[in-house]
Amino acid sequence: MNTMSRRIFVAALPLMGVGLASVVRAQGNPPVSAGAILFQNVRIFDGKNSSLSVPSSVLIKGNVIQRISTAPIAAEPGVTVIAGNGRTLMPGLIDAHWHAMLIRSNPVQAIAGDAGYNNIAAGVEATATLMRGFTTIRDVGGPVFGLKSAVDSGIIAGPRIFPSGAVITVTSGHGDFRQLSELPRTIGGMLSRMEQLGGSMVADSPDEVRLRVREQLMQAASQIKLTAGGGVSSPFSPIDVSTFTEAELRAAVEAAENWGTYVTVHAFTPAAIQRAIAAGVNCIEHGFLMDETTAKLIAEKGVWLSLQPLPEELRQGFPVGSVQRAKADEIWPGIAATYELARKYKIKTAWGTDVLFSQALAQQQGAILASLVRWYSPAEALAMATGTNAELLALSGKRSPYPGKLGVVEQGALADLLLVDGNPLENINLIADPGKNFLIIMKDGMIYKNSVSK
Ligand SMILES: [Zn+2]
Repeated sequence: MNTMSRRIFVAALPLMGVGLASVVRAQGNPPVSAGAILFQNVRIFDGKNSSLSVPSSVLIKGNVIQRISTAPIAAEPGVTVIAGNGRTLMPGLIDAHWHAMLIRSNPVQAIAGDAGYNNIAAGVEATATLMRGFTTIRDVGGPVFGLKSAVDSGIIAGPRIFPSGAVITVTSGHGDFRQLSELPRTIGGMLSRMEQLGGSMVADSPDEVRLRVREQLMQAASQIKLTAGGGVSSPFSPIDVSTFTEAELRAAVEAAENWGTYVTVHAFTPAAIQRAIAAGVNCIEHGFLMDETTAKLIAEKGVWLSLQPLPEELRQGFPVGSVQRAKADEIWPGIAATYELARKYKIKTAWGTDVLFSQALAQQQGAILASLVRWYSPAEALAMATGTNAELLALSGKRSPYPGKLGVVEQGALADLLLVDGNPLENINLIADPGKNFLIIMKDGMIYKNSVSK
């Protein structure tokens, strides 16, 4: 390299740095066409209130809800008008516990298989997810950053993704899917196939936790997921165990808080939940074996509880006689009990599905939401999957990939909207059949489905 070319190369380095970073961390959305869309004569479920609005008009400009009015809004030239005919306009649905990379691949494929296959399968599923009316998902574990970039840059249709990246687990914890033949691990040694794929990372000290958390943050994780206790699907973690020490959990919380975001943990038992709260964790996933004392503590501390009305089919999916089935049989009765505690102590409760390795169950995503009517009114259930889930997403602060308000129909909010043929507050089962009942699916001001009859 001669002096001149070296000078040019050095001068270009900062530019190259910026360029590479923006490729890897591509965030946000492609520019939305300046076209405006006007919904006329719609009754609005706003993501919070328990009744529909009077007939209203809603004007979308760019990716934002610009105006809502009970008086007619005049359609300016160039505005696309959609006649609502009294149908319901509501926020796009949000699933707060989803694993976009772990639906269509089988467990062996997802954990140790081919990354190209997994990404293509997840891409197809992402489009199906959006077509079920789910405009946002919080991804609580999986190598989802590439998929997210592909969706955000418009290569493939899919929901907004709040990524955690790899689940962080202790050796043998929930999320450690290695084989016994892969032991022992040497600290600083070669990563297992599972870790190379980025689905979960093993960490056994505060220092290792910090490292793995920061690696997820570097890839633009919007929140961090650790497993604080045993789980059903992983082979080597009894469900009664606590895994990370308080010091390890605190290391994760510090690293996340320094980055302006939060930690959520998988935890079932009172011991695991209480330790996580002591370490400063802001959200508990599942909590199905909690007791009254723990429920009170969660409420007092204002910690979020991310709950899932796990369907019976999921339990039956574990083979009779397997370790996993025995664990599932122990967890399942706790689902109803935990919903009752969440209600009783007015815990901040998010809703999600936690569908794993089943395209058939993923198709039930809306039906799983509708099943909340065991404990909530339809309006409460729908508010949970829209306005309330969006409040949980807002804990990501400036690490949110999508600046703006989600989960509500109000002026200035991001335009993620569904036009429903009927009133889901009266008949929540409408959301179980999105193909038939969601006539329009809009994300970020763009229409992905329109079957309004002309
Ligand atoms: Zn999960």
